[in-house]
Amino acid sequence: MIDVVETDILVLGAGGAGLTAALHAADASPALSIAVVVKGLFGRAGCTRMVQGGYNAVLTPPDSLQAHLMDTLNGGGWINDQEMVWRLVSEAPARVLELESRYGCLFDRNAAGRIHQKPFAGRTHDRTVHKGDLTGIEIMNRLTEQAQARPAIRPFEECRAVELLRDDEGRAAGALLLDIRTGRFVAVRAGATLLAMGGGPTMYRVIACSADKAADGIALAYRAGLPLRDMEMIQFHPTGLVIPGSLMTGALLEEGLRGAGGQLRNGRGERFMERYDPARLERSTRDLVSRASFLEVTEGRGTPNGGVWIDVSHLGAEVVQRNFRGMVRRCRDFGRDLARAPVEVGPTAHFMMGGVVVDPDCRTAIEGLFAAGEDTGGVHGANRLGGNGVAESTVFGGIAGDVMAAFVAGRPRPRVSAAAAEGAAARAAAPLGRGNAAEVYAIQRELRDVMWERAGLVRDAEGLALAAATVDRLAGRLSAAGVPGHGALNTAWQDWLNADSQLAAARLIVASARARRESRGAHWRQDFPASAPTPPVSVRVAAGGHGAPRVWSEPVAMTRAQPPAGALRPVPVEIGD
Ligand SMILES: Cc1cc2nc3c(=O)[nH]c(=O)nc-3n(C[C@H](O)[C@H](O)[C@H](O)COP(=O)(O)OP(=O)(O)OC[C@H]3O[C@@H](n4cnc5c(N)ncnc54)[C@H](O)[C@@H]3O)c2cc1C
Repeated sequence: MIDVVETDILVLGAGGAGLTAALHAADASPALSIAVVVKGLFGRAGCTRMVQGGYNAVLTPPDSLQAHLMDTLNGGGWINDQEMVWRLVSEAPARVLELESRYGCLFDRNAAGRIHQKPFAGRTHDRTVHKGDLTGIEIMNRLTEQAQARPAIRPFEECRAVELLRDDEGRAAGALLLDIRTGRFVAVRAGATLLAMGGGPTMYRVIACSADKAADGIALAYRAGLPLRDMEMIQFHPTGLVIPGSLMTGALLEEGLRGAGGQLRNGRGERFMERYDPARLERSTRDLVSRASFLEVTEGRGTPNGGVWIDVSHLGAEVVQRNFRGMVRRCRDFGRDLARAPVEVGPTAHFMMGGVVVDPDCRTAIEGLFAAGEDTGGVHGANRLGGNGVAESTVFGGIAGDVMAAFVAGRPRPRVSAAAAEGAAARAAAPLGRGNAAEVYAIQRELRDVMWERAGLVRDAEGLALAAATVDRLAGRLSAAGVPGHGALNTAWQDWLNADSQLAAARLIVASARARRESRGAHWRQDFPASAPTPPVSVRVAAGGHGAPRVWSEPVAMTRAQPPAGALRPVPVEIGD
């Protein structure tokens, strides 16, 4: 028998999107009950906390909303949802002020006492609001304190959403949760449900994002029948640490190192960017530098541990220590002296541009189900500008909170089917108590390898076909694999569930990448190296018959701006974190 908890609003995920949604809903209607579910510790899990660089918002002329819109569309290869982008750029300024004046964040000031905005490449004005290089910690700490101060908000810590629940008429009715500490399932019946689980490309071998994420939101949305968009668009960052045998491999060394004159060399000591982008060298765009490093390694010119070197020692040890204190400390923890010697780095999977199709009010195709943040697609198109990620999560989180509060007013709560909840629990519990966990980890390793090698920075038809077949085969193996022990605090079981979501999302990434037969933004096809000479399209994917994804494309509605002639070539994109 599964316990049932009742709530007006159910928020799945407690990063920037989830917390802002909960706060907005609570402040819009203080009588509402709001459940916030987080897989890890409240305020500590997810990527918003890891934000270093900052938050894009137009605060002062000569910057303008139109300039932020155009920068985002140029960065996104013109497949963005332009209405979503407009919503982002037009509401970001108020959200920054709200973060300060309502929630207590304190961002850095300039000499005149105004909010300091730093430059990031890929944009026309200094637009990035920050708190040193720990912006995410400031935002998450303040949002968490605010949520804890509102009795209406009830955290469900170390609980994971395992399935969305619907009523007989197909409306969203809440979700089935698994309490990780006890191993017990709980069905939450809610008037409105928000997906805010932050995507997360953790199905790749090397990652920069929070390891607690497993693209669960993407998997849940797909199983619920929702359409997703641009799932092939995965952002790789070029300078992730390479530390053999350490989980810290992939952790970011920030882009400022290249901006300050850091040089990249391959295993032979060659400054390889001279061959890929002789004009901009290491200051080239993130997608290009990542791809160049990847090619150097795969073509046998990498370092002993399969990376390339970043060298800033010529700037002088004192300068490096003063300007990159955090990076120097991070390297020192692993016995590397960034100030005096080259450090091994390589590309690292960073962010998912694609996700659930939503409208600018965060509505999905299912009544009562909303989505915000990295679980959604549309804002960033083919590539995300540094600084637009945390803006997206807090802007759309706030919108979702307001919209959900209005949505549930006076509306009866949908009924949860006990049979559906029991069925979902049985599916999730199926691997428990059978076999040992070695197979689960073997599957996860093989998935990460094939995604990295065949569906990562460099793709072609043959490699993607192999990736598709491997993902299908691994999914079959996972259904047969088991984990020992009981449900309470069973890490292997959690990893089985993670692998299940990662495989589901991997299948969508590969299917969408096969369908996009061109190169655009983060999606590079060796067999189609140019962008298609036709109007840009968005690739859509949803559950089709027999469990296979159905893929189609839709023209992009140019409701706010038309691409310039040059936008049909591969697009130079962004920089920043
Ligand atoms: C290292 C790094 C640096 C970055 N720097 C910047 C930057 O400078 N500027 C910028 O704009 N963007 C940056 N980004 C991107 C930015 O972090 C994201 O765009 C943004 O934080 C996403 O917010 P979110 O709320 O959607 O997801 P997250 O903040 O990741 O939150 C997701 C939440 O969902 C929870 N969750 C996941 N699965 C489940 C489940 N099954 N059940 C329950 N809960 C679940 C997680 O525990 C977490 O609480 C950076 C990303 C990384 C990885």
